[in-house]
Amino acid sequence: MSAPPVERPVWRRFRPRWLARAAAWVRAGGHAAIVNERDTVEVLLGLDERGKLSELGLWALLSIEQRRFRRVKTGPAEGLALVRIRPKFRRAVLDWCVRDAMHEEPRRRVPFDCTTCAACCHDADVRLDENDLARFRAAGRIDLTRRAYVKRTRDGRVSLRFAEDGRCQLLGSDKLCTIYEIRPENCRAFVAGSEACLSAREETLGLRDGAPWDEDVELIR
Ligand code: SF4
Ligand code: SF4
Repeated sequence: MSAPPVERPVWRRFRPRWLARAAAWVRAGGHAAIVNERDTVEVLLGLDERGKLSELGLWALLSIEQRRFRRVKTGPAEGLALVRIRPKFRRAVLDWCVRDAMHEEPRRRVPFDCTTCAACCHDADVRLDENDLARFRAAGRIDLTRRAYVKRTRDGRVSLRFAEDGRCQLLGSDKLCTIYEIRPENCRAFVAGSEACLSAREETLGLRDGAPWDEDVELIR
């Protein structure tokens, strides 16, 4: 049985004078980038009734190393989350807009099937905490706490040691995790359809869920 499709938000870019359109796009489930004449980019995301970002909205922000947002208090975007993007991440956000320009609706259903993909099990930084290590030990896999599988940095961070070819050593040849029941929290938390997932699929499998990046795309248009 194949996995149910994942529904993900679609990115659009707007000029500030079209803020009302951007807000309508976001209220319909999409994500919006507001690009102004001074080269600044802000993103507009939806919030739920408790004032929280959706899971995929939060993952989008984490991908560009942002955690905080401002809730818009007045105007057409009232009640939505607004985030000023740091210059080094502008290109990433605009790339998401280029990728998604071919998708017409604010939300998109994509048939991602993790059991045949495993892209995120390559070239990743899978952090381990004490709970992960304790779970390995409790399952009789003390080997997973040792140097062959784990690396420790000087500042005390612990993470999985990947193979030379970038593959997680614990990934089976059938693309399934060989320690699925006791896999690290980092792996459990990864969300199909998130920007991190889309990026992993693009980098590892060459599968881009939309249009290719346009080197000539202008920041402002
Ligand atoms: S990259 Fe996405 S679709 Fe592929 S296995 Fe990971 S979460 Fe699933
Ligand atoms: S531990 Fe399992 S789920 Fe996590 S990266 Fe390795 S193979 Fe993938």
